[in-house]
Amino acid sequence: MPSFYTSAEGSPYPDPTTSVQFRNGPGVGGLVLLQDSQLIETLAHFNRERIPERVVHAKAAGAYGEFECTHDCSDITSASFLNTVGKKSDVLLRISTVGPERGSADTTRDVHGWGMKIYTDEGNQDFVCNNIPVFFVRDPIKFPSLNRSHKRNPQTNLADSDMFWDFHLGNPEGIHALMHLFNDRGTPASLRHINAYSGHTYKFTKEDGSFKYVKLHLKAQGGTKNFDAQTATKVAGENPDFLTQDLFEAIEQGNYPKWDVFVQVMEPKDAETYKWNVFDMTKVWPHKDYPLRQIGRLTMNRNPQNYFTDIEQAAFSPSTMVPGIAPSADPILQARMFAYPDAARYRLGVNYQQLPTNRAKVPVYAPYQRDGYMNFSDNYGADPNYVNASLKPTTFKNAGKVTSTITEHEKWAGEVSSFTSQMGPEDYEQATALWNVLGQQEGHQDRFIGNLAGHLSGAKNASIRSRVYEYFSYVDKDLSARLRDATEAKVAA
Ligand code: NDP
Repeated sequence: MPSFYTSAEGSPYPDPTTSVQFRNGPGVGGLVLLQDSQLIETLAHFNRERIPERVVHAKAAGAYGEFECTHDCSDITSASFLNTVGKKSDVLLRISTVGPERGSADTTRDVHGWGMKIYTDEGNQDFVCNNIPVFFVRDPIKFPSLNRSHKRNPQTNLADSDMFWDFHLGNPEGIHALMHLFNDRGTPASLRHINAYSGHTYKFTKEDGSFKYVKLHLKAQGGTKNFDAQTATKVAGENPDFLTQDLFEAIEQGNYPKWDVFVQVMEPKDAETYKWNVFDMTKVWPHKDYPLRQIGRLTMNRNPQNYFTDIEQAAFSPSTMVPGIAPSADPILQARMFAYPDAARYRLGVNYQQLPTNRAKVPVYAPYQRDGYMNFSDNYGADPNYVNASLKPTTFKNAGKVTSTITEHEKWAGEVSSFTSQMGPEDYEQATALWNVLGQQEGHQDRFIGNLAGHLSGAKNASIRSRVYEYFSYVDKDLSARLRDATEAKVAA
């Protein structure tokens, strides 16, 4: 970097603090001149400083770190970063809320998103997780509706409890996710102490064509830490950036957050007969059926040098996979694999993979993806821009072998149908199981009722509230009765 100030084109520029003016005598007033390109540049660039805010996951903190393979996983995946104990890969992590805007308070009750890019020696591996293990819908076509209902009323521009609950009553498959959102983990006290889950079922593949279904779990060393609702609200007023600051300062002080990384592993055959549809993102795989198997450890140890360059320009996608990891037939996963890169193309431009924070740390050779706005690579020079060139043939690694998207072992046959929100009693079972887990933690059911009643009492429509009590009665009758009492007391107050 030069030691003196220059224009954006690199010319030394003597004084950016004053515009060039025509003055007809001493004094402050004067006519600015169109020839003052530095003034024009300064104002015009300021107008263009903002890129589109993410529609979801706008408010975030992020850091760099490393993933270390702690257990050899070569029996279940050929992914090179998981095949040698002690092997380390650089990581970028971005943790966000989902619904609120970029300037919103960190401690707003919300699901927390977890965008993680592992820069492996076979290209980038992204995992786009949440701090809850399940999701609110199981059909991707509902994703925009879900998010709008959690955001602002189109008329009042206010958060709207009636709208929120109206969505969930009409789309009741979200009951399990709601049980997660309204317990203590909905208001983390530190980003260093949240767990993260893929939620999705992925495949770990091997070069022999075999595969396992897996779900990813990241558990914070030191356990989860959460605020109660009152403290979260107080902190939101006193320091809306509390969690961002906590993460940044901890890393500056060398107090590096760590997570142990696990997978649950399922044989493909089991998926055909397992009690739960393994592609239904509203369900977990109970630990007793599929215990956690450790694969690695994550340590975040370096703060961004520049928030915009490193974190705001970061783009994550579940479609970014290395050989050895592959998508499953989970419909939400399939849709996200389209939607995330599409969001990045809109927000950052078609060459977003070339931005420093997104760029793979291994050589990239993708000569059939070239040109486009803001292409700042060598654009593959004179190399052929068409396939099967004989003048300069392209070479391929692992030609004919299993890749992340091509596996030979799933043979699907069936009817074309929609994956509806029809609910059966089995759809409430895991929500009930979580209610019972909360029952084993001192005061947690009471706080859950308080959190839920606090939100639901904001619904002005008595019929909506009444239907929500019935909805939660399918989880637990006592929960429903306590919710009714607590909510109506707040409404009456
Ligand atoms: P177990 O009975 O084996 O263990 C209970 C699990 O509950 C713990 O492992 C812990 O997950 C999780 N838990 C504890 N407190 C909370 C909380 N406040 N909010 C959310 N999760 C919490 O669990 P099962 O596997 O039989 O599942 C029982 C219920 O636990 C599920 O219905 C689900 O709601 C929840 N759960 C299950 C997970 C799974 O993948 N099986 C993952 C997370 C939650 P952790 O160790 O990850 O913190």
